[in-house]
Amino acid sequence: MRAGQRLDAELKASLEIRQRQGLYRQRQTLYSPQQPQVRLLDQTCLAFCSNDYLGLAADPRVVSALKEGAARYGVGGGASHLVSGHSYAHHALEEALAEFTQRPRALLFSSGYMANLGVLTALLSAQDRVYQDRLNHASLLDGGRLSAARFRRYPHQDVQRLAQWLQQDETSGRRLVVTDGVFSMDGDVARLDDLARICHAENAYLMVDDAHGFGVLGQQGGGCAEAFNLNVDELPILIGTLGKAFGTAGAFVAGSETLIETLIQFARPYIYTTSLPPAVAHATLTSLQLLREEGHRREHLRQLIQQFRTGCQALGLNLMPSSTPIQPLVVGSAQAALAMSDALRARGIWVTAIRPPTVPEGTARLRVTLTASHTSEQVDRLLNALAQASRVDNDQS
Ligand code: PMP
Repeated sequence: MRAGQRLDAELKASLEIRQRQGLYRQRQTLYSPQQPQVRLLDQTCLAFCSNDYLGLAADPRVVSALKEGAARYGVGGGASHLVSGHSYAHHALEEALAEFTQRPRALLFSSGYMANLGVLTALLSAQDRVYQDRLNHASLLDGGRLSAARFRRYPHQDVQRLAQWLQQDETSGRRLVVTDGVFSMDGDVARLDDLARICHAENAYLMVDDAHGFGVLGQQGGGCAEAFNLNVDELPILIGTLGKAFGTAGAFVAGSETLIETLIQFARPYIYTTSLPPAVAHATLTSLQLLREEGHRREHLRQLIQQFRTGCQALGLNLMPSSTPIQPLVVGSAQAALAMSDALRARGIWVTAIRPPTVPEGTARLRVTLTASHTSEQVDRLLNALAQASRVDNDQS
């Protein structure tokens, strides 16, 4: 057997195990923009699984800003930021994001995953400690593991346990408490007032990844920091991603001048990668303006969330306590979640099944997400399809 064939044979074994467990992941190819009605290869369906919470990904004004940015700056960034890839578009967006978050400075990263890895590895060394919510996003957990710091995960939202650990753990090093602002798979909002208080009392520093809060929470879409009114002292390390409510791509870290300079010097996922395409940064300036000014999108979204929750309660479905656009329906086993997702697809509705290891064993779910571009009639269609699909499920069990 040739080396390539031998490698394939080895890899196939683990793929087969994954398949047998009902955990095999598959992509769907889209032939349309991100919008409620999406075109897949063999079907047009109504999607409830995108993070485009404000419906900006295909907004004509953002699209034309992208075209204008490409005409002005070309397509590729050309190099990393520190070599020659830092364009005026990046600079202008960083200034606008600093102003928006009411922080002295902001720094763009090519993705949220890289921002989280970059911050955690740049700020933490062997003598330091990092404390993370058990349900934090994979990029935060990976960043914690990759750093040399001692890493502890507290039970989900258990601020008392965290406070105990902080009181007991002695260290001469730095202590970082890290949480999602809105938990990506559960949709609940972190108890940031408690966390900020505990961090202050215990001389620890708070870092929040608000990937799912920006654009959605706060009067102006300023996310958790705005909703909880946390300034740069109380919340010194704030992360946002641009691929969700902003409708574009990339991410940013907002904080003090010194924090940002430290990241520019030491964050390897910042230093050793090509800059985000400048046209994307230019388009994000437009989406930031829309995100701030078009508060009616947030209002409409809130009404849809209410409608969906009331409808699910009437159907007796297993809703989680979430007030955000992330409205997961926990099904249990991976197989049951897949079956439910397939049953919805047969009715023209697309909701992806989320299975372990993305979520804990036994809590596979349909991660329903609502966006400001859905209509109330479309949410009714989803509720009808859920009623039918769960009836079939009950009849078969
Ligand atoms: N943080 C959280 C909480 C997320 O949900 C995600 C993406 N799903 C990321 C970070 C990663 O962001 P990006 O997609 O920009 O890499």
